[in-house]
Amino acid sequence: MFRNFKQLDYLVFGRGSLKQLSDIIRPHRKPGRPMVFIIDHFFEGKTLPGSLGQENDDVLIFADVTDEPKTSYIDTIADTLKSECGSVSGIIGIGGGSTMDIAKAVSLMMGNPGKAHEYQGWDLVKNPGVYKVGIPTISGTGAEVSRTCVLTGPTRKLGMNSDFTPFNQIVLDPELIHNVPANQRFYTGMDCYIHCIESLQGTFINTFSRAVGEKSLELCQEVFLHKKQWDAESDDKLIMASYLGGMSIAYSQVGVAHAVSYGLGFLLGTKHGIGNCIVFDKLQDYYPEAVKEFKQMVKQNNIEIPQGICKGLSEDEYNTMIDVSLGMVPLWENALGKDWKTKITREKLRTLYEQF
Ligand code: NAD
Ligand code: ZN
Repeated sequence: MFRNFKQLDYLVFGRGSLKQLSDIIRPHRKPGRPMVFIIDHFFEGKTLPGSLGQENDDVLIFADVTDEPKTSYIDTIADTLKSECGSVSGIIGIGGGSTMDIAKAVSLMMGNPGKAHEYQGWDLVKNPGVYKVGIPTISGTGAEVSRTCVLTGPTRKLGMNSDFTPFNQIVLDPELIHNVPANQRFYTGMDCYIHCIESLQGTFINTFSRAVGEKSLELCQEVFLHKKQWDAESDDKLIMASYLGGMSIAYSQVGVAHAVSYGLGFLLGTKHGIGNCIVFDKLQDYYPEAVKEFKQMVKQNNIEIPQGICKGLSEDEYNTMIDVSLGMVPLWENALGKDWKTKITREKLRTLYEQF
């Protein structure tokens, strides 16, 4: 069976395209219902380039992304909006993967009853949420294009995967990602690089995913390997790499780095981008050429990959990470084939985790 791939509705790309936001969202305004702007807390007290086109009753929320988003945080925002505004015209998420995921989840909860954790899984969301717009200010996760929003709930870290999850509109304005600190830019950018490698070298690969994945990989190599200095063109390329990398995994799957990194995220709260880097750095047995290239990029961009984060963990803690990782069945199947269980054992995973 071939997947019937739900994509986002509208996309605008270009430097300064954020200025068009007010015109873009105007037709979606409903009388008496505000637009809600959820903006990464990094921008509090700063001026975002361009105009957001806010009107009088619009709501502005600065998203706290110190930790990756939790279902309880989504419930707090959605419940407050429901009690204070009744209903809203739409949700505009401006920030990195965390803020965009918060915006997607809040939009869905504005149209669905109950609590966010009840929708963690596949196709559990029954009603469309309200109109939603995603505007990345940091690039690599592909959250702007995906049909999920990753959330940590009471018992698991899992997205609300559904055909209602993709944005109705995204605004890809490379000016917004220009000032991301080099370390953060690298960690999130490498998420994209790793998406490409895991998609292209996985068993689920197909011509669709290869076509977009190869272009995304080439763009990552151009900015992190071949460029001497970061410039405006690098921003254009990275914003497109993130989008295409996201499209590539949407029609294939990620692989070993993500499966192992989820264990670190669950137990230690290690963030997605940096966790993937910590893991990928040690995956020479699985992706030998790419790991060599990754190390070159680390060196060239003068990045420190944290070491020793698993030192002193207990037997139980190792087992928790191994359980979480082995639970990522499609990721392992994509990476190692249908007989993946014969290729990755608890012992092998334990040895791997001990290296981080
Ligand atoms: P992030 O959104 O967590 O942000 C990282 C840091 O960068 C934060 O401190 C933030 O305040 C700061 N920041 C954002 N924009 C900035 C700017 N322009 N200048 C300076 N600082 C800025 O980082 P991320 O790597 O983009 O996202 C990671 C999140 O994305 C995780 O929660 C992960 O689970 C999620 N994710 C989602 C998907 C998906 O398909 N939905 C895919 C991969 C990852
Ligand atoms: Zn990822």
